[in-house]
Amino acid sequence: MIEMFDVWKTYPNGVNALQGINIKINRSEFVYVVGPSGAGKSTFIKLMYREEKPTKGEIFINGFNVDRIKERQIPMIRRNIGVVFQDYRLLPNLTVYENVAFAMEVIEASKSKIRKRVPEVLELVGLPDKLKAFPNQLSGGEQQRVALARALVNNPSIIIADEPTGNLDPDTSWEIMDLFEKINFSGTTVVMATHNREIVNQMRKRVIAIENGQVVRDQQRGEYGYEN
Ligand code: ADP
Ligand code: ADP
Repeated sequence: MIEMFDVWKTYPNGVNALQGINIKINRSEFVYVVGPSGAGKSTFIKLMYREEKPTKGEIFINGFNVDRIKERQIPMIRRNIGVVFQDYRLLPNLTVYENVAFAMEVIEASKSKIRKRVPEVLELVGLPDKLKAFPNQLSGGEQQRVALARALVNNPSIIIADEPTGNLDPDTSWEIMDLFEKINFSGTTVVMATHNREIVNQMRKRVIAIENGQVVRDQQRGEYGYEN
């Protein structure tokens, strides 16, 4: 579960990226975050995985106040949250297997667990035969599948995605969305910032629209669009 209470974010340059956000996202929800460029979507998402800290207000992830936790507890929060980006962010000099395994090594999982889990999660995302490939040998859609496998490998309760289909063609975007939906059906909360009108309007989910750092609309089975 994700809760924000009167959350404000002012960057050091004085930009008010978020202004008084109150939101509650329940376990197993699927939420789109929409809004024009510069509205505050990325900031909203970064606060959830503590890439940024709020200037004011409180954020709870699964009951933990992310602002009060000690530095050494940040890995625990991040283990519970998988993150997927528009540009995949795979490590170019590691194979598919090694990219996914790396996320488990970071949390000091045992070698035997890693050897069992990595092929399992690559199967789940539909890439069982690419273990030894390097990212530059894969299509964009395949790279995003690897990124999703990496995000899922530690069994997080929440997946956060910032424009995950932003660099993909429409067919591939739908394949990736089907995966997100499958992951959500298995109980994982999904929070996705997107500009993809077709996807939002066809795969109906909760829509949170942010404009000028404020939530201007919050609808179940909502539509794309952000002019109220
Ligand atoms: P979106 O994801 O909706 O495009 P962002 O959250 O990236 O919006 O940005 C919201 C506002 O905060 C914008 O005006 C942006 O320029 C500003 N901003 C974002 N990140 C930073 C940063 N690290 N430092 C200063 N300003 C930032
Ligand atoms: P996205 O494509 O996810 O919206 P952005 O383009 O908003 O990402 O941001 C890319 C990076 O640049 C982020 O790390 C963000 O914090 C930083 N950034 C965005 N706007 C500014 C800004 N006005 N000043 C400084 N850094 C910024």
